[in-house]
Amino acid sequence: MPQPEKRAAETGGGDRVIVFDTSLRDGEQAPGASMDLEQKLRVARALQALGVDVLEAGFPAASPGDYEAVTAVARQVEGPTVCALARANREDIDRVTEALRPAGRKRCHVFLATSPIHREFKLGLTTAEVVRRAVEAIRHARQSFDDVEYSAEDAARTEPAFLCEVVEKVIEAGATTVNIPDTVGYAIPSQFAGLILHLRRRVRGIERVVLSVHCHDDLGLAVANTLAAVEAGARQVECTVNGIGERAGNCSLEEVVMALRTRADHFQLRTGIRTQELCAASRAVAKASGFAVARNKAVVGQNAFAHEAGIHQHGMMANALTYEIMRPDDVGFESSQLVLGKHSGRHLLRYRLEQLGYRLDDVQFERAFVEVKKLADHKKELHDGDLEAVVAGVLHGVPVGLAESEART
Ligand code: MN
Repeated sequence: MPQPEKRAAETGGGDRVIVFDTSLRDGEQAPGASMDLEQKLRVARALQALGVDVLEAGFPAASPGDYEAVTAVARQVEGPTVCALARANREDIDRVTEALRPAGRKRCHVFLATSPIHREFKLGLTTAEVVRRAVEAIRHARQSFDDVEYSAEDAARTEPAFLCEVVEKVIEAGATTVNIPDTVGYAIPSQFAGLILHLRRRVRGIERVVLSVHCHDDLGLAVANTLAAVEAGARQVECTVNGIGERAGNCSLEEVVMALRTRADHFQLRTGIRTQELCAASRAVAKASGFAVARNKAVVGQNAFAHEAGIHQHGMMANALTYEIMRPDDVGFESSQLVLGKHSGRHLLRYRLEQLGYRLDDVQFERAFVEVKKLADHKKELHDGDLEAVVAGVLHGVPVGLAESEART
């Protein structure tokens, strides 16, 4: 078994993981997620603030609108390397060259499928033809770019021996990053890690390139597969904010970044992401794509730092580490949220009443607690107005009008 630490140093990647965001390309390809130019520029600015290393802005040959968006991003974004996608042909690559002309740092990303099912049914090419076409495309791209990425589309379903051959040939042709996509979300973490190790052992020249992965979430494994690949020596992760993307989506940027950061003890790796910007980026992408973030979404969902169960709330009030592994402000949340509902207990009620300026004696407090529990059986969450109504009832004998309280929500 190769030593991951040693091999990592050999790739030149060291402990730094390159974050490649494709929210504007793969993410935008999701049915219903298309964005206009203004929306794309807003997302690009959020990604710049986030500090992504590579920002894939689009696929210029796909449409005039995509071309225009890539050029606009190339003109306006500073910091990240701006990348655009091309099929393995001269026309597509030349479109990328033109579209990225205004960019400071730029990358041409060329893809060609390698799996038997894509070779036979999509491309109608033999293995020898796939190799030849990939090599020609990479050579052509290298005439205009120092930074060229090759993606072996559907690599996860490609015969490992053939994948090794293609990768070796594109490295000889000048590719500087080689991406191993699990295009259809078919991989399993241990097996995918094995594929990355296999490539690192067998491919001549692999230490000269950055090895990248691009995982889809069809089985809910995109983040797990990405992390497994990173442990096996991949040093670029392709991902999207909120995990948007084709079908079930791509590896979620915020999840993979916070896993690497929260478990730095395990991975011993770092990214260049300003994690405090994660929530802002998530909101920008949700707004532009029209894809709402699930309430229980990891890291950026509304409930990611919310607690309602009384036992958890009591722990949280004593020490947030009891039930939180990340600090909310590390990802751009203002604070943890203790939700007053039917599962919460006396500690939170006392705290909330004090915050509202009420001082109840023990008898009054117990009456208020009983009323709050009754009310909470009918409402999912209780707000300040509900508490004020309860306290008014307890202090002044005014019955708590359920109907009145409900009318406020
Ligand atoms: Mn994809």
